[in-house]
Amino acid sequence: MDVEIITIGDELLMGQTIDTNSVYLAQVLAPLGLNISRKTAIRDGKHDIITALDESLARVSLVLITGGLGPTNDDITKSVLQSYFGCGTRIDHDVLTHLQRIFAFRGTELFEINKMQAELPDCSKTLFNSQGTAPGMWFEKNGRYVAAMPGVPGEVKAITEESLLPLLAPLFQLPPALNRTLTTALIPESLIAKKLSAFEKRIPGCGLAYLPSHNVVKLRLTRQDPLLSGEVFERFWQDLLQELGDWVFSPTDSSMSEWLLDTARKRHMTIATAESCTGGYIGNQIVQIAGASDVYKGSVIAYDNQVKIDVLKVEKTLIEMHGAVSAEVAHQMVEGVCALLNAKMGIATTGIAGPSGGSEEKPNGTIYIATKIDDAVVVKHYVLRGNRHDFMVRALNTAMKQLQEMA
Ligand code: AMP
Ligand code: MG
Repeated sequence: MDVEIITIGDELLMGQTIDTNSVYLAQVLAPLGLNISRKTAIRDGKHDIITALDESLARVSLVLITGGLGPTNDDITKSVLQSYFGCGTRIDHDVLTHLQRIFAFRGTELFEINKMQAELPDCSKTLFNSQGTAPGMWFEKNGRYVAAMPGVPGEVKAITEESLLPLLAPLFQLPPALNRTLTTALIPESLIAKKLSAFEKRIPGCGLAYLPSHNVVKLRLTRQDPLLSGEVFERFWQDLLQELGDWVFSPTDSSMSEWLLDTARKRHMTIATAESCTGGYIGNQIVQIAGASDVYKGSVIAYDNQVKIDVLKVEKTLIEMHGAVSAEVAHQMVEGVCALLNAKMGIATTGIAGPSGGSEEKPNGTIYIATKIDDAVVVKHYVLRGNRHDFMVRALNTAMKQLQEMA
């Protein structure tokens, strides 16, 4: 069933805030068979809200709204919805108690402006917000439904999980969506498309989506025909994995860092990183994964040559002979960090992120990546495209792929 999302907030249209709420909502609703057919981002304006709602409700019977529910004057969603649905107000005493608790905990006075947050349209059900002060609201009119939630992503998540999903599940008895995603690394999208051209013709009822980002392409197989059985879908999926063979980095949608941590756990090994040009980005991405401390020991950010020499024990003469951006230095960096942190798996990077510092021999984007598993070390040279951030992301993906080829 199609669902629309309206995100409200001037900041979304000014480029100040990235809309992550609709991404989150799309992800959690998909398994219920609720597909987002359209997203509309609008300003905190009465006319904008009314027009967007009119248009969405003319197309679909469920609309989700986020934003504009703060207690301040710039947030007007609540009052607009109240007049849109033509109702009065009520005090939600559970919300009031919740507000009193929050403010007592903070040790601050519950101002009138906050008390007002317990005042809700009397034609709405409360979507309780355990994580914040602005409750969500659920409206129902002529078989159409509107859920309004505040903008703060953590609050949207809490309200969705605790209040919204329990309401939606029994209301919309739909066949669950079926899709699976795999990850490829360092294979150009066009090459994958070429390889899969015949496959794509023999999956009736399914669709294949290409999701490229930097040097990773994710492929999502989605059941489009609800009558297609789970077994046939599974057969198509196995076919896809077979077609791609060792181009598949991971048969899941999980991140490169998750793959690394899983691999290290399976091999009962620990990991260390030594980062020059990536300045800690790889380590940072690894620790984004909860539980990384099981196997991740740490990193040395050896940005300066003296750190490479003093901490990682890279030979000074080697730097003088080959330059800091060289295979020889990358090799000694990975050996050095694994010895220092007592790790069996290692990654080291040394390169030129740009936009300056490159030369004809070593252009911007040049990187040497050394990977180590047990006693085996591989060092490879690459030239990565993009700005400094792109460079970091590509370096991470490339390092993981290089490590996988050794594993
Ligand atoms: P509001 O409910 O309008 O007071 O929103 C509070 C905060 O939530 C804003 O300052 C934004 O930083 C954030 N926010 C609002 N809408 C979104 C969105 N669609 N995605 C991510 N963050 C958002
Ligand atoms: Mg706002």
